[in-house]
Amino acid sequence: MRAVLVEEFGAAPRLADVADPAPAPHGVVVAVEATGVCRSDWHAWQGHDDDVTLPHVPGHELAGTVVAVGADVRGRRVGDRVTTPFVTACGTCPECAAGQQQVCRRQTQPGFTGWGSFAELVALDHADVNLVALPEGFPAAAAAALGCRVATAFRAVTDVARVRAGESVAVHGAGGVGLSAIAIAAAAGARVVAVDPSPGARDLALAFGAEHAVAADGAVDAVRELTGGGAHVSIDAVGLPATCEASVRSLRRRGRHVQIGLLPAATGAPLVPMDLVIAGELQVLGSHGMAAHDYPRLLALVGSGRFPLAGLVTRELPLEAGPRALAEVGAATTAGITVLRP
Ligand SMILES: [Zn+2]
Ligand SMILES: [Zn+2]
Repeated sequence: MRAVLVEEFGAAPRLADVADPAPAPHGVVVAVEATGVCRSDWHAWQGHDDDVTLPHVPGHELAGTVVAVGADVRGRRVGDRVTTPFVTACGTCPECAAGQQQVCRRQTQPGFTGWGSFAELVALDHADVNLVALPEGFPAAAAAALGCRVATAFRAVTDVARVRAGESVAVHGAGGVGLSAIAIAAAAGARVVAVDPSPGARDLALAFGAEHAVAADGAVDAVRELTGGGAHVSIDAVGLPATCEASVRSLRRRGRHVQIGLLPAATGAPLVPMDLVIAGELQVLGSHGMAAHDYPRLLALVGSGRFPLAGLVTRELPLEAGPRALAEVGAATTAGITVLRP
């Protein structure tokens, strides 16, 4: 198969012919129709993720068709059109038994612990636990975004922050996951303030339902002013020390901060103002993907038309463009989600 191969961290990957994957007994192989280019792919390429060994194929936001099935898989067949959460859970550990597959202690992740979907084929583990069937006719490019950024945003807004109608929500970073959070919070009836240094991203944020979109410089004061003293909920959708701190400082008393951006050690440790956390009874929460069994609620939101999923995908490129797209997502030079079509 053809794949985008990383042979040295930070050095330009190349399109290479590599061996086809075989399914694990509990897994499947999927022919990739579309795969999103996410900032965490960039972190993997830069060597920020200890799970990644070389040579490596990135890619964890995918949609495609099952082409091979392991002997122990019961509920999946060749020909099924599917997506998967980027956390492929084991299905049997204590977290999985409690329904919290997104923090499975024996998880694997395509594009991190193993080869990912910047390729014509990708192997996925524990198919009965993790695969999500796509509704008939669901476009592949939009479905690819469901594997990581859209699902992460959905769970962060709906289940972790528990955003209610009428609340104010600040979203720091209007890239793919940030735009998703903006649209999902707006669909829930929240009043959204988006923060992003890029004018293009701010325009997209307004198109996705933000009431206001402000620059990153001076964002804390701007959010506090626009929300009448601070947001009920603030989300760091970037994952930098500065955006994490700005998000916490954007909150009103008893507000909820949700961390979605990854903050690997290489980006430096954030300074969380714990004095404000205690004095204002702030909540500091993490959100890490979403379990496969939670996808029907997200698919229902998409089906309702209240979340413009297709509009999130701003570029579709051939697999050959993968190396360039990977560099661009790190530099945040493009707005919306870029999808590769192997
Ligand atoms: Zn597990
Ligand atoms: Zn991702």
